[in-house]
Amino acid sequence: EFKEDTVIVVFGASGDLAKKKTFPALFGLFREGFLSSSTRIIGYARSKLTEEELRTRIKPYFKTPTEKSKAQVDEFLKMVTYISGPYDTPEGYQKLNSTIEEYDAASKVKESHRLFYLALPPSVFTTVAANLKRYVHPGDKGIARIIIEKPFGHDLASAQALQKELAPLWSEDELYRIDHYLGKEMVKNLVPFRFANNFLSACWNNNFIKSIQISFKEPFGTEGRGGYFDSIGIIRDVMQNHLFQVLTLLMMERPVSFDAEAVRDEKVRLLKSIKPFDKDNVLVGQYTRSEDGSKPGYLDDETVKPGSKCVTFACLTLQVENERWQGVPVILRAGKALNEGKVEIRIQFRENSNGMFKDINRNELVIRIQPDEAMYMKMNTKVPGISNSIAVTELDLSYKSRYSNFYIPEAYESLIRDCLRGDHSNFVRDDELDISWSLFTPLLNYLEGPDAPTPQPYAYGSRGPAGLTDYLKRNGYVFQNRNIYQWPVTTPD
Ligand code: NAP
Ligand code: NAP
Repeated sequence: EFKEDTVIVVFGASGDLAKKKTFPALFGLFREGFLSSSTRIIGYARSKLTEEELRTRIKPYFKTPTEKSKAQVDEFLKMVTYISGPYDTPEGYQKLNSTIEEYDAASKVKESHRLFYLALPPSVFTTVAANLKRYVHPGDKGIARIIIEKPFGHDLASAQALQKELAPLWSEDELYRIDHYLGKEMVKNLVPFRFANNFLSACWNNNFIKSIQISFKEPFGTEGRGGYFDSIGIIRDVMQNHLFQVLTLLMMERPVSFDAEAVRDEKVRLLKSIKPFDKDNVLVGQYTRSEDGSKPGYLDDETVKPGSKCVTFACLTLQVENERWQGVPVILRAGKALNEGKVEIRIQFRENSNGMFKDINRNELVIRIQPDEAMYMKMNTKVPGISNSIAVTELDLSYKSRYSNFYIPEAYESLIRDCLRGDHSNFVRDDELDISWSLFTPLLNYLEGPDAPTPQPYAYGSRGPAGLTDYLKRNGYVFQNRNIYQWPVTTPD
């Protein structure tokens, strides 16, 4: 475990991710007492910034919920220094190495602990990784870990090429591939929730579960930054990585322990059981101007290729071919510029028997990952009072009301802490990438090839393309609102 005197180097310190996520996460850990004040943090980038300029840039993003935490900001910023240097030549790295050696000497460490966080575009990942290994790795005098950010490739071939370049430099043990969904509280809860509740284990299979849906909804579009998104699309942006991570944790078999390799082995086994996507059963969309005309369509973004067929909304259905899940459709749904922002899982159980009842709803377990973590099971109960009719209500666990005084870490805080502890459970392993890319690449080739279907239009701020409701129905999700379900329940005076 990296406890005292660790040196953390943030590459690309001048950038967006560093400012909005990496430094605020380090501050969050410090604020909560999970990062020792003997830690040294060095920002590194080409920009000629002074240390003060870097500090001024990152400070507004720190969360300071209490008076005490406000006072901690300056204390934390004293731990942060900056080195300006190139990524592709030795000078900056040599300077960095000698600075770390000075820190280590001053704190008289027996073993040098170095964590390199690459908040950089993928075009420079491997150059930086190679130079770090060559000039800044402590060798047998210590331990080094390196964190890299998505994208881990653009398709199977590029993901494998990236891996081939990284593997000889950094061992799988030293490498931490971040998928920040794995740091989200509700995603971290999936394993304990599933495997520490016997009643769930009993029904977590195709005898009881009829369909699964994992959806990601974002309320904004590309907002002038579509140039970056245009070659990526929503499937690469959130499905191949974030939604697939959620899916594997939700559907894998029980690992023998919490050990990182035990968990990741099971995830990989699940991935291997997924059947190739049926390209004729996908619904793709692209957003257009909002109905009131106030929000632009995707193609109105000037940074986007005119006539682009880029997919900003997608619905896919997959099948897992194993004993547990055979026959249970799993719908993945993701879109930008929709009516709301939320990420959730919906698990629908088999029909309840009619007979004594009429038109009774399916039970549905909803696990809301964001915003406002919650789990609720939609249940059928008697309408209270002088009535014999049945209505849907819920067994509800809303984190905000149940756990009012808990500190729930930000995803990046949680993941950086895992890395400092040397715990790989919540990071992506190379073979996971291989399998997920081999599933997605043929589909992406089709959607980006000469026979690509034209994405269905949907208005900015709507629920998605017109075909959505029908698509969900055809693939096993039954919408049973029937105007009898209300939240929150209002009680008459
Ligand atoms: P960014 O702001 O574009 O880049 C970070 C820094 O890298 C820049 O400040 C710049 O620093 C340097 N840089 C930029 N383009 C470069 C180039 N072509 N060659 C060499 N250096 C270059 O990127 P970011 O948004 O922080 O994202 C960093 C990584 O995290 C990316 O891989 C991204 O996909 C991933 N990511 C970002 C977010 C996010 O919220 N932003 C979320 C998830 C993942 P200097 O010019 O000063 O060296
Ligand atoms: P719901 O409004 O009944 O929606 C259920 C599902 O049906 C969603 O996937 C929804 O898609 C889809 N849907 C909505 N309208 C549709 C339509 N016309 N045709 C086909 N499908 C449609 O939501 P709910 O989760 O069951 O709960 C109702 C409300 O209660 C929600 O606002 C929920 O947040 C709230 N609630 C909160 C808690 C809590 O905070 N703990 C507990 C229980 C309920 P979309 O996702 O695209 O809308």
